[in-house]
Amino acid sequence: MERSKKLILVAHCILNSNSKVTGLSRYPGALEPLVVDCIRKGLGIVQLPCPELTFLGLKRWGMTREQYDTPMYRKHCRTILEPLVFQIEDYLLNGYSIEEIVGVDGSPSCGVNLTCSGYSGGELDEALNQHSNLREVPGKGVMMETLTQLLSEKEIIIPFSAIDENKPFA
Ligand code: SF4
Repeated sequence: MERSKKLILVAHCILNSNSKVTGLSRYPGALEPLVVDCIRKGLGIVQLPCPELTFLGLKRWGMTREQYDTPMYRKHCRTILEPLVFQIEDYLLNGYSIEEIVGVDGSPSCGVNLTCSGYSGGELDEALNQHSNLREVPGKGVMMETLTQLLSEKEIIIPFSAIDENKPFA
């Protein structure tokens, strides 16, 4: 069968919510409406790496963008994204199109329109109090920002969008 030569890149947890911080998943495995829509459109689905899972593992706490915005984490994002950016470049050089990159709004790493802020420092018991400081703010998460930079270094333009887990999935 003829291939579509069209791809979509999605944040890792859209296909595998097991990667999320414990307690934060809104669906059991893959986000069915988005996946079914991609299948119906004939899009190949490429899964981005989960930068938080590969940095801090499954026992990590929920954190804010300020906490992840370090030179070490930025380097980590760059390292795990570089092989993927080479793949994107090769697809484009061979006449494929990358329709979209889909992130997760509100994430400190994968937010596109919104990320999260509110770190107030201190030990964990104080940090629990920090929960009341948490807020969504405009801007990209650290990994999506890094991906934008890596693509821009190669003059590759791909539109970004994001799922909003606070709204029902259509
Ligand atoms: S870091 Fe990104 S891929 Fe990983 S769980 Fe959070 S939103 Fe999903």
